[in-house]
Amino acid sequence: MYYIAMVDAEKCSQHKCNICTLYCPEANTLMFDKAKNTSWVDVDRCKGCALCVYVCSDLLNRGCISMVMAQAKEA
Ligand code: SF4
Ligand code: SF4
Repeated sequence: MYYIAMVDAEKCSQHKCNICTLYCPEANTLMFDKAKNTSWVDVDRCKGCALCVYVCSDLLNRGCISMVMAQAKEA
């Protein structure tokens, strides 16, 4: 089990802001899909720091990202 960020695409796509992606400390982890107007998380790369949650919820008051427990993939 590990802790990862998950974007609510339906909520996020209403804002079209792309701001959280600027703050993720991991490369190619929190990205923006221009076609769908939503950010998304590469679950295998997310380190669970929750910085993106702070940006979307506390700074922007949008609440589109939450931290969830995920099962590790079978090797
Ligand atoms: S900051 Fe929030 S609303 Fe903006 S792109 Fe990220 S998840 Fe979506
Ligand atoms: S929890 Fe941290 S590593 Fe994961 S997507 Fe958010 S900012 Fe990036």
